[in-house]
Amino acid sequence: MTDLHIVVCMKVVPKTEEVRVNPETRRLIRAGARSEINPPDMNALEMALGLKDRHGGRVSILSMGPPTFEPYLRVGLAMGADHVYLLSDPQFGGADTLATTYTLARGIQRMDGADLILCGEESSDGATGQVPPGLAEWLDLPQLTLVTDVTIDAVARRVCGRREIRGGYELLAAPMPAVVSARTACNEPRFMDYRIKRRAFEEGQVTVWRAEDLAADETMIGARGSPTIVSGLDEARVRERRREFLRGTPEEIAQDLLARLGLLD
Ligand SMILES: Cc1cc2nc3c(=O)[nH]c(=O)nc-3n(C[C@H](O)[C@H](O)[C@H](O)COP(=O)(O)OP(=O)(O)OC[C@H]3O[C@@H](n4cnc5c(N)ncnc54)[C@H](O)[C@@H]3O)c2cc1C
Repeated sequence: MTDLHIVVCMKVVPKTEEVRVNPETRRLIRAGARSEINPPDMNALEMALGLKDRHGGRVSILSMGPPTFEPYLRVGLAMGADHVYLLSDPQFGGADTLATTYTLARGIQRMDGADLILCGEESSDGATGQVPPGLAEWLDLPQLTLVTDVTIDAVARRVCGRREIRGGYELLAAPMPAVVSARTACNEPRFMDYRIKRRAFEEGQVTVWRAEDLAADETMIGARGSPTIVSGLDEARVRERRREFLRGTPEEIAQDLLARLGLLD
């Protein structure tokens, strides 16, 4: 299957420890936070590159976000992906998962579709896990979620996925094209290929599409196409725990502990 086309959806996220939320707008404050590629998306990319190693074809990276995402996505090119498509337009801002999946689906349709669409299981900032199933809905495709490994049968055009469950695993299969979400840390993403890194960063194929390039329905994108309302926001307070250090020799500490636990005769 030399013309196998795999699309990997990648999101650039603020580093988890630097995420803050604006209590008034209830939106993430991204300014000032350092970013990274959403970790499970690196696992999805590794899955795609493994399939490309075995079956040939090409891997495209698809992302919706601001132009600042671009250098992060080029890392994917340096790892072996062939093309980056960045959907970037102020009109896409404020999108909930419905508008995000609509826009990503329009991007995939603009590429004339794909044989496989790979996503991470969830993002480390929004963390809804709704994007992979949402994409499958918009594109009317079957989906395999939370898989740790995928194989494809090029002749039968079937994709098989392995999903870990309590006490074992299950094997899922679907006809291609299909949407697959990859479990976090299910594989070891390869390092950038330093022979192509420079080319990837200087001449790598990055296409930026705006709303008009996608012929997107303006009522379905960005804040306008997002019916989700964040109705409240509570900060989980860290509870200070009471603690006390026992002092003395190990024997004295053991006696003290037994006494406190009421275990001394
Ligand atoms: C009311 C509301 C307003 C919001 N406003 C904003 C806003 O102004 N700015 C903002 O940045 N976010 C905003 N968000 C968050 C935004 O909706 C989500 O980040 C986005 O819809 C993706 O959902 P998720 O992060 O839960 O992805 P998940 O479903 O958890 O992600 C699963 C996988 O889908 C893929 N994926 C997810 N997002 C993308 C993407 N953008 N590009 C490519 N692949 C992707 C990745 O492979 C990822 O691993 C808003 C959310 C709500 C509810």
